[in-house]
Amino acid sequence: MSQKSNRQFDIAVIGAGIAGASVAHELAADARVAVIEMESHPGYHTTGRSAAVFSEVYGPAPIRALTGQSRAFFDNPPEVFGQHALLSPRGVLYAAREDQAESLEKLRDSLSGAAGLRMVDEDEARRLSPLLLPGYAVAGLLEEDASDIDVNALHHGYLRGLRQLGGEVIVDCEVQGAERRNGMWVLSTKHGEIHAPIVVNAAGAWADELAAKMGAQPAGLVPKRRTALMIAAPDGADPAGWAATVDVDEQFYLKPDAGRLLISPADETPSAPCDAQPEEMDIAICIDRIQRAFDVDVKRVENCWAGLRTFVEDHAPVCGYDPSVEGLFWLAGQGGYGIQSAPGLSQLAARMVTGQQMPDGLEDRGFKAADVSPMRLRRRKATAEN
Ligand SMILES: Cc1cc2nc3c(=O)[nH]c(=O)nc-3n(C[C@H](O)[C@H](O)[C@H](O)COP(=O)(O)OP(=O)(O)OC[C@H]3O[C@@H](n4cnc5c(N)ncnc54)[C@H](O)[C@@H]3O)c2cc1C
Repeated sequence: MSQKSNRQFDIAVIGAGIAGASVAHELAADARVAVIEMESHPGYHTTGRSAAVFSEVYGPAPIRALTGQSRAFFDNPPEVFGQHALLSPRGVLYAAREDQAESLEKLRDSLSGAAGLRMVDEDEARRLSPLLLPGYAVAGLLEEDASDIDVNALHHGYLRGLRQLGGEVIVDCEVQGAERRNGMWVLSTKHGEIHAPIVVNAAGAWADELAAKMGAQPAGLVPKRRTALMIAAPDGADPAGWAATVDVDEQFYLKPDAGRLLISPADETPSAPCDAQPEEMDIAICIDRIQRAFDVDVKRVENCWAGLRTFVEDHAPVCGYDPSVEGLFWLAGQGGYGIQSAPGLSQLAARMVTGQQMPDGLEDRGFKAADVSPMRLRRRKATAEN
């Protein structure tokens, strides 16, 4: 959109991160869809800043169900996603010190029944994650079927697929205002108006701000900053086959990444929606925690970044029509799990947008639409106020 003009679509999706790109792709076969993005590059915010882990045991129950449901798509995506596998196997080891035995037991009990999980002793933990200092981790829980995700291929596959189906991606186009006129949303942008009867709010950390522009109550989303650093692997080491290692209390993690090591203090600092940047203090905490657990001497940080993981109180996503505002569909609050759950969540969201039943198989995983509906948040707020 180079000049000011008014455009009309069946569905306007706001936000071209993984949430907006995936749901737009799922909707585009049967509707005229546009994804509207304020930045010049889709994926500039949280989607481009993730650790790219696929874990079927990470996150609250609705996320675990949606991630499990996503596996079939990851394993067998449409052709437009390219020739290379979207997932590459990499185990995840939840490592516990002696004083964390209770946390390990709690984690194991909370995941009992999940496939592909087993306890490991210190020796095996150090075989899986050879940089662990002797005597640091006395036991661990291993998720054998976890993977690395090719986030770029997934995200750009969705955007390419959307365009192939006739959908549009409109970048550098912030939605500044929204008004409901005669059953249509009229979205104002610097390039002109965009008209659509249905708006999908996939605005990530900005989803509550966008909802306010549309006259809706906030969902109570809290963006939380998380920091990541890239460092070199020790000389002569080849980390390709090592497990990703996560502290059982999620105080840090270390993950091999293309011959280097991605490390994080697993921070969760509440933040306003913004272009998140790493803070000196979080970098220092990260290096300290990593050096206490692993045989690494961090002399130089090659690269570091931060991103916002956006949650509501129960950490489940917010997916469904707003209970009070017509034509506003929420797709937000994916927290730290929005990449791994994107295929399952976008298929669900597309069905809900168009008033169809849930995708097959999701209910069998114990998933209930009520657990992600915006209405649950309204009810909880009302109960808390009474
Ligand atoms: C350090 C870190 C590690 C992570 N690791 C993992 C992991 O291992 N596995 C995993 O599954 N997930 C992980 N995540 C979480 C995952 O990255 C997020 O859940 C996911 O990217 C959220 O996607 P999104 O599309 O909702 O948000 P975003 O990617 O932020 O997209 C929202 C978009 O909306 C646009 N927007 C906002 N307001 C407007 C407006 N008014 N007009 C137009 N556009 C607007 C923004 O510019 C933005 O591009 C991690 C996150 C971080 C920060």
